Amino acid sequence: MLNAIKFVKIVDGGLPALHMDSQFQMVFYIYMSSLATVLPPAIVWLVLRRLTDDLRSMAARDPLTQLLNRRGLSEALQQHFHSRHATPAYLLLVDIDHFKRINDTYGHHAGDAVLCQVAKVLRATVRRGDLAGRIGGEEFVAICLDTDGVGAAHLAERLRSVIESQAIHVAGSDHLLHCTATIGVSHHFASPHAWEGAMREADAALYRGKAAGRNRVEWAEGFHGHAGAPG
Ligand code: GH3
Ligand code: MG
Ligand code: MG
Repeated sequence: MLNAIKFVKIVDGGLPALHMDSQFQMVFYIYMSSLATVLPPAIVWLVLRRLTDDLRSMAARDPLTQLLNRRGLSEALQQHFHSRHATPAYLLLVDIDHFKRINDTYGHHAGDAVLCQVAKVLRATVRRGDLAGRIGGEEFVAICLDTDGVGAAHLAERLRSVIESQAIHVAGSDHLLHCTATIGVSHHFASPHAWEGAMREADAALYRGKAAGRNRVEWAEGFHGHAGAPG
């Protein structure tokens, strides 16, 4: 705008119209020099902020599935329990059955397609506000943040059944893959530090589920969620 006015002034009165002592020139130079001082650091700040946000998000997510990784889950839990009205959480550990066999039979890229499909199911099945993550090769975690033991048990059973029902397409092949998963469910926990303990409980339950034949949900010892009472 100021440049347009300046242009009109030059056309109108020639270069003498732009003497430094004219009021317009004073305003123009003050405006331009403040712009030159403020604009570059502002642009640098915006770019750095964008890069920092991207790096933080990359550090918190698994690159293959874009689900939260261990670090992302831990940070999200800290945020959840920071609130005074935070509800207890339940942790579901989901492990694909005989995944090595899928890799060995159909190749690593087929294994990756299965991982991505299970991640998709996890994302679509947990409730809004729950957490979904991938914490190892074929191990996933769902954390229910606003439910009771019955709700956690229902989610685990729904996850198991939806994973079992998937027909997974692999790029470059006409063959549709199927897989199942075994799920271990922890007791409820109510602090961000307790989630490692919940992982151990869910892992022990998962181990029992594998030993009992796979494709099933197992609960931490003494968990009564599936019987109606909170775990
Ligand atoms: P179980 O039913 O007892 O869980 O057996 P499993 O075969 O699923 O478990 P195991 O731990 O024996 O094998 C896990 C395999 O996962 C071995 C490893 O090569 C594979 N794996 C780990 N990370 C990835 C990955 O990112 N992509 C693919 N395609 N495979 C992976
Ligand atoms: Mg495993
Ligand atoms: Mg497995």
